[in-house]
Amino acid sequence: MRDVSNLAFKELVEHHPKAIMLAQHGPRIAYVNKQFTHVTGYELHEVVNQTPAMLSSGLHNAAFYQRMWQDIADKQRWEGLIWNRRKNGEQYPQWLTIYPLTVDHQTWYVGIFLDVHEARQQSDGLTNLAYFDPLTGLANRALFLESIHVYIHQYDLFQHPFALLFIDLDFFKEVNDLHGHAVGDQVLQAVAQRLQNCLPSDATLARLSGDEFAALIHLTPDTIPLPNVCQAVVDAFQQPIHVAHQQHYVTTSLGAALCPQHSQQHTRLLQQADRAMYSAKQAGKSCYRIYSEQDAEQTQRQQRIHEALRHALETAPEQFYVEYQPQYHLPSQTLTGLEALMRWHHPELGQIAPTEFIAIAEQRGLIHAVSECLVTRIIQDFHDQAKPKTPKQLAINISAQQINDTRLMFLLRPLHTCLQRCGWQLEVEITESMLMSMGKSSLQRLHALRDEQIRLAIDDFGTGYSSLVYLQNLPVDTLKIDRHFIQQMDANDDQRIVSAILSLAKSLHLSVLAEGIETHAQLQTLQALQCPLGQGYWFSKPTQLDSLSAALLD
Ligand code: C2E
Ligand code: CA
Ligand code: CA
Repeated sequence: MRDVSNLAFKELVEHHPKAIMLAQHGPRIAYVNKQFTHVTGYELHEVVNQTPAMLSSGLHNAAFYQRMWQDIADKQRWEGLIWNRRKNGEQYPQWLTIYPLTVDHQTWYVGIFLDVHEARQQSDGLTNLAYFDPLTGLANRALFLESIHVYIHQYDLFQHPFALLFIDLDFFKEVNDLHGHAVGDQVLQAVAQRLQNCLPSDATLARLSGDEFAALIHLTPDTIPLPNVCQAVVDAFQQPIHVAHQQHYVTTSLGAALCPQHSQQHTRLLQQADRAMYSAKQAGKSCYRIYSEQDAEQTQRQQRIHEALRHALETAPEQFYVEYQPQYHLPSQTLTGLEALMRWHHPELGQIAPTEFIAIAEQRGLIHAVSECLVTRIIQDFHDQAKPKTPKQLAINISAQQINDTRLMFLLRPLHTCLQRCGWQLEVEITESMLMSMGKSSLQRLHALRDEQIRLAIDDFGTGYSSLVYLQNLPVDTLKIDRHFIQQMDANDDQRIVSAILSLAKSLHLSVLAEGIETHAQLQTLQALQCPLGQGYWFSKPTQLDSLSAALLD
């Protein structure tokens, strides 16, 4: 040690790759090294004898500095992220370590720091800093959260409004599953680049996790309006990403929340942007949504229903019951069957429409449990039914996604057997739009239903653009004309679609049922068109089985 000259020590400090500042008690700056000048823009003579407060950005409050000095006194050290201001006025985050040093009974303070943005480019020790995502080089969640605080504080001081964007990739999981994680990683890097290119240059962009990105954008009257920025991001991902000699199609769903309009509180803003992003996903992905109270209520209600549904299916199945709507042979107006429709009465939420809870059940993987509940209920309802004089049909609704579920057949078999025993024939209704997008394996499963003598009806027929070839290959027995076309008959005096469906069905040897017959006039028109079957409020609303029993016995 003794061999190393004072000069050598001075050189070591002077050319150290980190910015170093030495302050005397006071504190007053006594010395800064070259890297300090490089980062802050201030030369030594400009800062000597000044207080370090001249470097502050004004973004931290008094309590922050109090805590910092308290830590230095208590623990002999403070380390953390702090936003300071360069000579040119620019605010920047630095990773700062401060510790006291006593030499000859005199206390000095050493401050050593790293410009966080510069550190990212150098890529050494980045992960130690725990503020950057090593894959994309973007800020990570921790730095992003700190940045929100800073933006909010900036708003408090200077009234600069800003937007928080949540950006989630659509279909990234598919890329990963199909091409492996190495390719997935490269795609994420390309995504980060593309986002940087389409966001304003001063935006703070971060990768929060997996395929989730976020950004902070200042909003001033002369910047590009937020909807345009969001749309630009969505548009930028209409083009495929080229990685590993392949094109990858990932799109983005965006949600934005505004400070101060929506909130001035960081967790609320994050939550609101997240909700808005969820609404964008719900709206079909590859689009953006700016937070709105109304959307939020909608998502909250969906969440509430989801939880209540899961709970009811597991522990309170008595909340569910089934209503049956009669189906008639139109020429003779005799009853031919019933359609079973699920009903749910929740003690607090009240009666919840099946269109609402079925959609949620489908999205959240609960649809099989709903069908299980339906089947149990029907078996209970029918177990003591007297056999009708002529065989009748019982139709149940099945979601298309259940066709590929191997549990379906195990669910339907006991129902089928139970119904057959009391003189009923099971029919399964699947909506047309869903059927048309089915693959070959689903088709095989439909044939398996047919092999078990379970009938198949296409629900809401006319709304889903069936191809004739497809229709010919489906093991279908009945087409149910969507009630929209029945209503249209008297509203526009337009019977063309109904007639077309009837003649199509005739040539394919299929039966037809008209749904939603509400008036006598509709019934008469359908009779004139020789539509064989129908159901609707004109005959009967769906009701519980005991109030129908007499009619069932002919
Ligand atoms: P859907 O299969 O098209 O059922 C017919 C809907 O039309 C029923 O609504 C019924 O109450 C209603 N309706 C019957 N006659 C008339 C009429 O004359 N006029 C009008 N305006 N409406 C009429 P509901 O019960 O609200 O069911 C809605 C949808 O929920 C059903 O449409 C079906 O797709 C679905 N759904 C009901 N139960 C189940 C189930 O257990 N499983 C599945 N996957 N879906 C179900
Ligand atoms: Ca139906
Ligand atoms: Ca229908």
